[in-house]
Amino acid sequence: MVNEMPFSACETLFARNHLELDRQAYEKLDAYAYLLIAESERQNVTAVRTLPEIWARHFLDSAYLTGVVTGGNVLDLGTGGGIPAIPLAILNPSLRITMLDSELRKIEFCQHAVSELGLDTKAVCGRAEELAREPEYEAKYDFAVSRAMANGSMLTELAVRFLKTEGCLIAMKGRQYDPSAERFSEAASVLGCRVEHETEYVLEGEVKHLISVRKESDTPAQYPRRYAKIKRSPL
Ligand code: SAH
Repeated sequence: MVNEMPFSACETLFARNHLELDRQAYEKLDAYAYLLIAESERQNVTAVRTLPEIWARHFLDSAYLTGVVTGGNVLDLGTGGGIPAIPLAILNPSLRITMLDSELRKIEFCQHAVSELGLDTKAVCGRAEELAREPEYEAKYDFAVSRAMANGSMLTELAVRFLKTEGCLIAMKGRQYDPSAERFSEAASVLGCRVEHETEYVLEGEVKHLISVRKESDTPAQYPRRYAKIKRSPL
């Protein structure tokens, strides 16, 4: 089969979105794209199933984070099939990344992908609201990143206890982002955090948003609450 996304096409795609791609990272991203496509026959790890779409909708999105998540311990909350964690690990191997998802089948796929690609990235199965209170995970992360997992207030509540003080949640939102519905600021003020930046940018003609929430003090003991409670009465 001819690869419709050869190195030159991917390099051009990245360059016109002001991102860099080297040959070594390309080889791994290409291999990961094929793993995603193969796995999507078995389970829903991605809604987009062609190479060009995977590059444009998953890899560019993740690559944009390389300019924001610059070092330290990074947690990907609700990683699904490994987005953004796996592309981020490929593009910046110095990051210490942990992927977290409550679905075992997804985490098994992530573990398989990580070993096939030779990455040093951990994949953990569990619920965010429970793992956040375990000593191994509590207050251990410099960054928490997340795409398509929960709305702003819920995500902030699920993420904060994982962060070190001064650590930062980076929420990835698409064109439908509506600040008043997401309630990042409302949640942040209750949780000892502050919304630091909201950045709007465009990738392949689509408007995207990154919301950075900085943790300023210890998380109040009652948060995160049980999942049903968070859903029933969001902050
Ligand atoms: N980040 C990926 C997947 C998004 S789908 C992407 O952008 O493609 C959201 C994922 O979050 C699902 O895989 C779901 O299992 C996981 N999830 C939802 N609530 C969770 C929770 N409380 N703890 C851990 N994982 C959760």
